[in-house]
Amino acid sequence: MVLRRLLVAITFVLLAAAAAQEARPLLVGAEALQAEYPGNYGVSYTEARPFAQALGLAYWQSGDRLILGMGSLLVRLPVSAIPKSRTVFKKLVTGTPPHALRDGKRILVPVKYVARAFGCTYGGGSNGLRVLLPAASLQSLNNAVSNGRDVLVLRFDRNVNVVRQAPGHWTLLGVRAEEGMRTLTGLYLSDVRLVPGPLGSELFLDGASGFPEEVAYYPNEVRIYVGEKGTVPRPRPLVVIDPGHGGADAGAVYGNLKEKDIVLKVARQAAVILKRRGYRVRLTRDKDVQVSMTQRAQLAAQADVLVSLHVAGSPLAPAGPGIFTYTGGTRTTPVFTARSRTLLAGGGYQPILRYYAQPPGGVARLAGLLESELGRIGLSARKGETPLYLLERAPGAAVLFELGSLSNSSDRARLASSAQQSAYAQVIALAVASFLGGGS
Ligand SMILES: [Zn+2]
Repeated sequence: MVLRRLLVAITFVLLAAAAAQEARPLLVGAEALQAEYPGNYGVSYTEARPFAQALGLAYWQSGDRLILGMGSLLVRLPVSAIPKSRTVFKKLVTGTPPHALRDGKRILVPVKYVARAFGCTYGGGSNGLRVLLPAASLQSLNNAVSNGRDVLVLRFDRNVNVVRQAPGHWTLLGVRAEEGMRTLTGLYLSDVRLVPGPLGSELFLDGASGFPEEVAYYPNEVRIYVGEKGTVPRPRPLVVIDPGHGGADAGAVYGNLKEKDIVLKVARQAAVILKRRGYRVRLTRDKDVQVSMTQRAQLAAQADVLVSLHVAGSPLAPAGPGIFTYTGGTRTTPVFTARSRTLLAGGGYQPILRYYAQPPGGVARLAGLLESELGRIGLSARKGETPLYLLERAPGAAVLFELGSLSNSSDRARLASSAQQSAYAQVIALAVASFLGGGS
């Protein structure tokens, strides 16, 4: 009897487990997808790209990073391969945020987490799951002329993605169908027309054709810039100075001269000069503490200009300052500016996120300016290219500036002198200021 009851109980548990694990239909808007339960932890997952497409989300995936975007709202998920260990698996799936999972060629995303993050409703019953993104509505449409360009400002009640279909033709994804026309007095624009479309509202900019168009996303707001070449006006540039090492990590050491102290002094002084000139400046550390590479990279990712400061120490290191840059190939992580998340217009239904980064050549120009400022104080610099962790992760113009070598006696004398430290700070500040174009 007891045994029979136990068997019934076991069967029930097994059935429940089997039921929980089974894939079920997932309706995302009008798209029929499938929800599955990797590892059987009761957390629904689905294939990332079709899911993003069904919701009209921007999609960016590389290596161990997945980013989904709607207007200025970005959801980032770490991507992990399905682990062998159950404990690890459970942690990945039930953590915050839950990890996206790599299963062979497929990337799976946690449905509920992503749905909620974008303000979708998530629910369902025995026949399947349902994710719905409420339609957005256009609250206002204004235009202005700024720096010789027309700026069209569209405000919505949530974040919205827009897709450029053709010159002067944009789709406002998921925006409640509206119809209307507005006459504008702009430089290039004459009329704005709204027409209902299958994916949302279609926006036609009469007069824009033949002129560059760019889009910038702000919270619940989309700005479309129309006009001759130029860039979307950027917020006040951020300069990040990164004094290497710190705390238990002294860096290069010679007697009581330590790399971590020298670079901190120079960094602080350069920051003071730049702040006085009106720039926003942040240091990755402003005291003698250890800061992880990840933390440094997080700050570097927001920088328009990054100067990482080091001192060489190895007896083999050549004397004199060195300027190192990284301009190679594709960057391993996406680049962000925290302030205005700018999605440059791309063709097709699913634009790939292309973040606002320094125009090509910026890194070389900054390195050149540093070199010429060094020349003014009688120093010449070695230059080199190196795929350093921090440089790879900086979207702006990034250089590693090696002030000199502690194993060389004349470098050492210079690095120890507070007058020379100030001179270095001046070199950095002047180079950065002229890079950014004088005052700010
Ligand atoms: Zn160093």
